[in-house]
Amino acid sequence: SRQIQLVSRPAGVPTVDNFELVTVELPPLADGEFLVRNEWMSVDPYMRGRMKEGKSYVPPFEIGKPLEGGCIGKVVESRHECFSVGDYVLGNSGWREYWISNGNSVTKVDPEVAPIQSYLGVLGMTGFTAWVGLKRIANLQSGNTVFVSAASGAVGSVACQIAKAYHCRVIGSAGSDEKILWLREKANVDEVIHYKETDDLSAALGSLAPDGIDIYFDNVGGEHLEAAIEHMNDFGCCVECGMISTYNATEPPAAPRNLFKVIAKRIRMQGFIVRDHFADHDEFLRDMSAWIRSGQIDWEESVTEGLDHAPEAFIGLFHGSNLGKALVRIG
Ligand code: NDP
Repeated sequence: SRQIQLVSRPAGVPTVDNFELVTVELPPLADGEFLVRNEWMSVDPYMRGRMKEGKSYVPPFEIGKPLEGGCIGKVVESRHECFSVGDYVLGNSGWREYWISNGNSVTKVDPEVAPIQSYLGVLGMTGFTAWVGLKRIANLQSGNTVFVSAASGAVGSVACQIAKAYHCRVIGSAGSDEKILWLREKANVDEVIHYKETDDLSAALGSLAPDGIDIYFDNVGGEHLEAAIEHMNDFGCCVECGMISTYNATEPPAAPRNLFKVIAKRIRMQGFIVRDHFADHDEFLRDMSAWIRSGQIDWEESVTEGLDHAPEAFIGLFHGSNLGKALVRIG
């Protein structure tokens, strides 16, 4: 079975040299185990954090070991009473063709309900992240003005549309013409900022939100966060979901330079980790299925073909290569 291993820890933006495609032999199945052939895997910005040494909320990837991450595969051999050949499963053993499981932390997915790869995106971890951030952290209310950064990405695109479903005024920021068009036409956001073509992000946000913003859904940190604080209304909320602009930084970032305004404006700033909220997962699935059925949530996938190209798909996240969920189809 082929797998991608981490061979060195990236300094700054990762390169393909940090990864290696390796072929390994898998042991025969024991009783109570089953063999999965992966069809899809997810690449996610948080994986960059696991490539660093040191303690965080998940342990670092080990050098010379396969990487891990969300994946969807088919059971091709089974000695387990609850998993049969032909079942589709969601697991955390991405970055490889085959894996053996005893069923722990693996859930079945129904290919009749939705395309299987959507369990890695809109119906999976990234969709759930958008839902938790807005419904559990921000306490989203109809009529709020909501600013979303990385707005056309996996989490951001869903956050924008959940906010629209709650009749909010949504301002989305993204980094290409194609993404801006998608946000306007498909996600129906009210205002957009092409941040790469904007000299003064804060001024741009201010002109689009003359009455201020109530919620900032932060995927980016840095200058986006500074602009959001600048235009936040009193008692507003910064939902700290991610800070991708800092993940490859070799120096501590300068922005936000206006953090003291959190006090004067009584801003609530709260970070969260989606996996703390699994008790709410069924409610999320009910909401999301209803929004998809009613046409209120649309989604995109940026698919890279072949396990051997997974490192490029991952690195592309930091160059804005993806619209919607970045996925790898394992051929
Ligand atoms: P995305 O699909 O949004 O992909 C990353 C996008 O970020 C890129 O396409 C790019 O879009 C944008 N980006 C990259 N570098 C920069 C930069 N320097 N400045 C501004 N934008 C940048 O990824 P996800 O939706 O999977 O993740 C979004 C965020 O949510 C990440 O920060 C991630 O860490 C976080 N997250 C947090 C979770 C939690 O539990 N707290 C769970 C899941 C994700 P563009 O072209 O617009 O620049």
